[in-house]
Amino acid sequence: MLGMSCLGAAAFGACAAAVPAPAAAPEAVAAQLRDAALAGHNIAYQWVSELTSRFGPRPAGSVNERQAAEWAAARFKDLGFENVHIESFPITAWVRGAESAQITSPLTQPLVAAALGESPPTPAAGLEGEVVSFASFDALKAAPAGSLSGKIVMVARRMVRTQDGAGYGAAVDARIDGPGEAARRGAIAFLLRSVGTDSHRLAHTGTTRYVDGRVPMPAFALSNPDADQIERLAALGEKVRVRLYSSASYVQDAHSQNVVAEVRGRVRPQEVVLLGAHLDSWDEGTGAIDDGTGMAIITAAAALIRDAPQRPQRTVRVVLFGSEEMAQPVAPYGAFGGHAYVDNHKAELATHVLAAESDSGAERVYRLGLPQAVLEGEFAKTALRVLGPIGVLAAPRAPEEAGTDVGPSVAAGVPAFVLNQDASAYFDIHHTADDTLDKVDQEQLDQNVAAWAALVWLAADSDVDFRTHNAPPPQP
Ligand SMILES: [Zn+2]
Repeated sequence: MLGMSCLGAAAFGACAAAVPAPAAAPEAVAAQLRDAALAGHNIAYQWVSELTSRFGPRPAGSVNERQAAEWAAARFKDLGFENVHIESFPITAWVRGAESAQITSPLTQPLVAAALGESPPTPAAGLEGEVVSFASFDALKAAPAGSLSGKIVMVARRMVRTQDGAGYGAAVDARIDGPGEAARRGAIAFLLRSVGTDSHRLAHTGTTRYVDGRVPMPAFALSNPDADQIERLAALGEKVRVRLYSSASYVQDAHSQNVVAEVRGRVRPQEVVLLGAHLDSWDEGTGAIDDGTGMAIITAAAALIRDAPQRPQRTVRVVLFGSEEMAQPVAPYGAFGGHAYVDNHKAELATHVLAAESDSGAERVYRLGLPQAVLEGEFAKTALRVLGPIGVLAAPRAPEEAGTDVGPSVAAGVPAFVLNQDASAYFDIHHTADDTLDKVDQEQLDQNVAAWAALVWLAADSDVDFRTHNAPPPQP
């Protein structure tokens, strides 16, 4: 089979299959793909290892991000993908500068802090003020206008560790909208107890929202032990003063890009199963688990499908999105890369039959969520027969949230599925300098590839309309 790699061919027990195999039942092919991925016959680890080693951190709009996109496109071509191309779009890039934070009174102590993405620099001499601490974002929002004049506001809410990552969604609003709320009340800077579940001296950065075209004040994440120290001093009745410095800057005419690659369907190539992950990363680590592994998982799964003896009926399209992290959170869904994709592919979205993204780290998939319309149908039963043996359960309901990258497509009407990963430990590392390759467990990564390859194959080779569950009648 021309272009068939030995890695993929190994899934089917031959490295040079010259004779077309008889068509196997879709469920049997899905099980073969699953088992091949699980046995390590996939390129996921190699992908994330090479990506993070060659390009390191890939902040949106950076040279690293662009070169990683060019590398990914070249690799897609080597792997035999079709319609491989890069779609650029303009952004204003944010660049971290030098930064520091310390308590200056009632004692002196250096703090571990990271400027929040998009936040402006401090004055060149830094700024200093008294910290007013709020236990929750709601408590800050209850403070009267003007009541925090000249103060540094800290929100010290604790993120709750959960398997499905719901603790993040419950805490991240303070990072997104905290600086704006603090500014409205007269504050001069904003501090956040990191949206993270570890107790290490690591600050978890993340983006904040513009108000009238910019983030209104310097804003920093503090490591959790450092935020706790400030809270304890305040509880002892001390007035805590903090000095902050950041030389962050903006690049107005930067570009980011989405990388597109396809396994063209053999019967209805215009029907697309869209798989997304993001190519950009935060700047302090190397974006291994956020989201190098997501890219690796969907790419490896699609490569296995490409190398199967028979193409699926529909097209599998992989999109590596740019500018997911350091971009404006655009209400109600998405960031720049996801919106750029919808703008470029508006006319095609009606024939996007299903979409999903992988962006919750590298730990095992434990749950499958499908569109409401097919939850009770044969497709879901088949999927669970194939995925059950690798520990994937059915979600009790359809996915509530599709993700930042495919979110704009889903908001435009494309049905979504989710393969939920165990996110219990993900937020110990997420958006920190510790997001590096050594955190990736290859066995768990392979289980992700197994789940994606099997499910995406079933969806791409089916006739199911995931919008209405207009499944064909059973074969006589
Ligand atoms: Zn991510």
